[in-house]
Amino acid sequence: MKSIAGLIGFPLAHSISPAMQQAAFDYHHIPAEYCLWEVEPDGLRAALDRLRRPDCLGANVTIPYKRQAIAYLDELSSDAAKIAAVNTIARCDSRLIGHNTDAPGFLRALEEDGRFNASGKQVVLLGAGGAARAVAFALATRCPSALYVVNRQQDRAEDICAELAADMERCSAIGYQELFGSGVLNKCDLLVNATPVGLQEGETLIPRPSIPAGALVCDLTYRPTKLLEDAESVGARTLDGLPMLVYQGAVSFSLWTGMEAPVRLMKEAALRALGRGG
Ligand code: NAP
Repeated sequence: MKSIAGLIGFPLAHSISPAMQQAAFDYHHIPAEYCLWEVEPDGLRAALDRLRRPDCLGANVTIPYKRQAIAYLDELSSDAAKIAAVNTIARCDSRLIGHNTDAPGFLRALEEDGRFNASGKQVVLLGAGGAARAVAFALATRCPSALYVVNRQQDRAEDICAELAADMERCSAIGYQELFGSGVLNKCDLLVNATPVGLQEGETLIPRPSIPAGALVCDLTYRPTKLLEDAESVGARTLDGLPMLVYQGAVSFSLWTGMEAPVRLMKEAALRALGRGG
């Protein structure tokens, strides 16, 4: 019997997860197909219930359901519970277990591909949505000296800092005005964009002159962005979102199959799906 796994979200037009996960199934000769399940909001519960079928290995969850899905699951991993967002669902008999693989995916990308150790460093994180929460909780495990969470709706950034208070001494929620009016960016060692700003060509939240040249600038978007282009032009090191995407997908694959993910192959498949060779 052929198994299935897939991505639940809305809309799903440009996902490269099918190429990446299918490469991993095929490498291990697992008779499984990775599907795109575009689900309207009123169909979320039914879509999640379908994952309980014996032929289903599990699913990834993306915008806008990473938080909403939690209500329909039977159990959460401790990371997913802390982050309060789920991007992977694994099935155990007919029970659905929610995981967050964005957090380990980000850390592996930061440390292996970005060659960055966040311990004792100053970090500026743009955004306070699901991805930013995963990044913030992951970074907290490395004890940065300070984490500034910058968001339009400041209460969402304040929530992250309040939840991290026990793990981190200095986590501050600030607005964009305060970010540019203070010396925070000058002293920052790592700047992470965890907002979708940059998906549209030419848009950026950080004007070129404000980019700290000595920092690692990381954008979770896995296509070229103006932020990374500007960062390179001022001499900063850069890291795009592709390694994180591959590593979070690799952890998902292992949760579904119990097998080691062929990471290099998955990355090559992702690059081909993006039209970047590989
Ligand atoms: P989300 O939960 O919808 O959060 C979006 C965040 O971006 C919010 O903090 C929002 O601020 C902020 N934002 C949106 N538009 C903005 C604007 N015009 N100006 C300033 N801030 C703005 O989304 P998410 O799941 O966190 O995803 C964020 C990005 O990360 C997406 O591009 C996603 O594709 C990417 N991502 C990549 C990976 C990877 O593996 N590479 C994994 C996960 C996510 P407010 O709260 O003020 O609305």
